[in-house]
Amino acid sequence: MHDDRSLVEARLKRVLEERIRPALYPESVPLTAGIWTAPDEPVPVAEGIAAPRTPIAAGDRWGAPWGTSWLTVSGTVPAEWAGRTVEALIDLGFDANMPGFQCEGLVYRPDGSPVKGLNPRNQWVRIASPAAGGEQVLLHVEAASNPVIMDYHPFVPTELGERATAGSEPQYRLVRLDLAVLDLTVHELVLDLEVLGELMAELPVEGARRWDILRAIERALDALDLQDVNSTAAAARSELAGVLAVPAEPSAHRLSAVGHAHIDSAWLWPLRETVRKVARTTANMTALLEDEPDFVYTMSQAQQFAWIKEHRPEVYARVKKAVAEGRFVPAGGMWVESDTNMPGSEAMARQFVHGKRFFLDEFGIENEEAWLPDTFGFAAGLPQIIKAAGSKWLLTQKISWSQVNKFPHHTFLWEGLDGTRIFTHFPPIDTYNCSMLGRELAHAVRNFKDKGRASHSIAPTGWGDGGGGTTREMVGKAARLRDLEGSPRVRWERPAEFFAKAEAEYPAPPVWVGELYLELHRATLTSQARTKQGNRRSEHLLREAELWAATAAVRAGFPYPHAELDRIWKTVLLHQFHDILPGSSIAWVHREAEATYAAVAAELTGIIEAALAALAGEGSTELVFNAAPHTRTGVPAGAGAAVPAGAGCSVTAREDGGFRLANGLLTVEVDGRGLVVSAVEDATGREAVAPGAAANLLQLHPDFPNMWDAWDVDQFYRNTGTDLTGLDTLELAADSPGAVAVRVTRSFGSSSVVQTLTLTAGSGRLDLDTEVDWHETEKFLKAAFPLDLHTERYASETQYGHLYRPTHTNTSWEAAKFEACNHRFVHLAEPDWGVAVVTASTYGHDVTRTVRPEDHGTTTTVRVSLLRAPRFPDPHTDQGTHHFHHALVPGATVADAVREGYRINLPERRAVGSAEGVAPLVTVDQDAVVLSAVKLADDGSGDVVVRLYEAHGARARARLSAGFPLTGAQYCDLLERPTGPADPDASTIELHLRPFELVTLRLTR
Ligand SMILES: [Zn+2]
Repeated sequence: MHDDRSLVEARLKRVLEERIRPALYPESVPLTAGIWTAPDEPVPVAEGIAAPRTPIAAGDRWGAPWGTSWLTVSGTVPAEWAGRTVEALIDLGFDANMPGFQCEGLVYRPDGSPVKGLNPRNQWVRIASPAAGGEQVLLHVEAASNPVIMDYHPFVPTELGERATAGSEPQYRLVRLDLAVLDLTVHELVLDLEVLGELMAELPVEGARRWDILRAIERALDALDLQDVNSTAAAARSELAGVLAVPAEPSAHRLSAVGHAHIDSAWLWPLRETVRKVARTTANMTALLEDEPDFVYTMSQAQQFAWIKEHRPEVYARVKKAVAEGRFVPAGGMWVESDTNMPGSEAMARQFVHGKRFFLDEFGIENEEAWLPDTFGFAAGLPQIIKAAGSKWLLTQKISWSQVNKFPHHTFLWEGLDGTRIFTHFPPIDTYNCSMLGRELAHAVRNFKDKGRASHSIAPTGWGDGGGGTTREMVGKAARLRDLEGSPRVRWERPAEFFAKAEAEYPAPPVWVGELYLELHRATLTSQARTKQGNRRSEHLLREAELWAATAAVRAGFPYPHAELDRIWKTVLLHQFHDILPGSSIAWVHREAEATYAAVAAELTGIIEAALAALAGEGSTELVFNAAPHTRTGVPAGAGAAVPAGAGCSVTAREDGGFRLANGLLTVEVDGRGLVVSAVEDATGREAVAPGAAANLLQLHPDFPNMWDAWDVDQFYRNTGTDLTGLDTLELAADSPGAVAVRVTRSFGSSSVVQTLTLTAGSGRLDLDTEVDWHETEKFLKAAFPLDLHTERYASETQYGHLYRPTHTNTSWEAAKFEACNHRFVHLAEPDWGVAVVTASTYGHDVTRTVRPEDHGTTTTVRVSLLRAPRFPDPHTDQGTHHFHHALVPGATVADAVREGYRINLPERRAVGSAEGVAPLVTVDQDAVVLSAVKLADDGSGDVVVRLYEAHGARARARLSAGFPLTGAQYCDLLERPTGPADPDASTIELHLRPFELVTLRLTR
């Protein structure tokens, strides 16, 4: 037999495209349309519907960037269409090749009730089936003219990402406003041919199945009259029925399809637009659920449910009904799909607390999977947090984006830094926007690494980000793929159904220990520095506000601000979304984030100051309050006390114009270039700075990645760089017994930097305050600390502990981690001596090692990442002034690193009050056991909730003492639900903690 495959395949492609799909709507009449454009931001639905219209028609341009237009379409169903299926077709000017990321609409009835969304691949509104003929049609469309930020030529700088600079040029042209007859038989024929044609292309040429399908398609095309597709579609379908009825092989892979729309809570649009994106997509999905009985839809991010509840109650009512029916499934149990590298311990925990609590309160549902398809890497602290929140599974797809190393499993146990293991699945389909294409399904089967042991995987199916979610075409294809030879078996399932089956069939899956590092998007640890600092500052202010408000509530009857803290937490959690905190959103988003963080800081500072005023009492003594978890300058953790001024600092001039700073703990040499050429711990005489090197050396690299400007830094950035050693001025900035400091000023490019290096009495750290006036583009600024240390590994703080990363690049896995995340510290050590670099400002860093030819010693260099200047999606990223606070801690143990990390992020506060001071609400007698939160219970009972963890990576016994009469104590999960009694002895509780173990206690007064 001659091989005519390519001929039949090409015939299918052309006939489908040029004859069959155009026959979907064989008859149409134009609708009459009018438009009104809101003068500024979006308006309420009633206002939009009532506004006066001016005529508009297909072909007309509309929609300035970020504008909102209200369209009204009206018409009459022709009498001769009686008995047929009639739809309105509204093409706002969509580009179907880009589902999402462009204009969108939400259709309303005249009474303001929502019908469904309009999206690039979802342009229909069902009017009647069957139609009676003569129906009057009147619909309103709230149309958003969101500009396309990321085009066919992605990553080109654009001013469209900010309302003020986006201009007023109409972005779209109306293409079609029609009433039309939908031919349901042709609709089914299209799906038959798509499913079979796409399946055929994936099957082995050597197998009979491929040829069976080819011949059936050929017969179907022969049966079709191309001049009259509508009359012959049924005949064509009957030629395909046989091959569509052949069941799947017994060994066929099992694919759990989950209706899904990955809607980024902000990204290439502002937060306010996400509210509407979610409303449109959920309106679509609740409508689809009514039409398709087998379909199941899943939505994550409690924040998105909360938005529709607040802003689109009419849509939310439909969501609530579908959730109650078990077909619209809240997933993930987090407030948003957050970044997981940068959120601090408590914030990561509160993502689950607020997410799960919302689903429980609103729907009575507690889901057990963490749902993070798109997050840029997963910190080693996360498994313990997931488990402590009462969940047990994790889904993500993102690690498949890694540039270098292929992850060895799709289903496995992920073990975090404390040993907690979470059953984890990476969908082998490698997308969270599956559209039921044959090649996607075949890729899932071929790619699945756990074949032979497991047979289930998941396929999040639907267009996200304004694509409108799952389409009826995807549902139609899935129905054909339930049991079809050559294809995996496809079922619509809830995530929990998938996980239960996957876990049951795979009792001993492989184990991956430690972080899930994404070998991509490493610059998200640095881009948009103000957003990152806003997060860091907010997290620590929240700690202080809870601690002092709880202490003041118990000690002084201070009204605990439950509602305020709940609201502020949710704001901070929202901004940890995986395109906000990572700095990968448009300018609009980051400008708003900066303002929001400023408001958060002001409100929290007000709460803190009010609580401290209530605590300080009457008197004229200046009290120092210590919110850090360890005693500092004589003030216990969580206490306030009067302290004498420190003394013992001195400064002397060096011959080269530099200075020697000393405080009895450290002696620091700043040379005539303003660089730290020596930092000696006096007690041991050990030098931290590598011979011949200089610490706090600013280094500037070119930084123009191949793609994803705000997200990526590519390894070649290190090939070139400049040491910023040029000096404008070097001067003494402080010279008192309490503190000595020098100030260094430098200029480079179009920018300048002022650094203040300070030694404070009684402190074993050299503080480095850096003010940068930054006007570079596509550059990366780092501060280097070359240390005289020989070590294979170093520690980085993450949630509730720290993880170790190698300092070498033996394998591609280590080499790929050339930029990594730390929270408050990195720590490097030889067995008897180490150094920490602590920070209140940054997350990104790198560590490298070299051997010195002179003395064969090892120099291990820590570099903290200060600033970048990518030009996409925000063309002016990070321009302007910035302030950073770091410190070098020579002689630091891990315990010192933990302690100094907290201290630098939680400066002492002062208030005037009674000389008696304020005793702590709760104390722990062991430094390794750190109080990460002290607060009143969220349920308003007045119980004190404390969360603590073992911070050194060792076993710890500790005694927790309540500073108030204790009537009971219970262990809890993160949601403060009791899990067991804690058996207090008088007002103390004995604790035994595993390395990095996290414990939550509820103490009843
Ligand atoms: Zn995303």
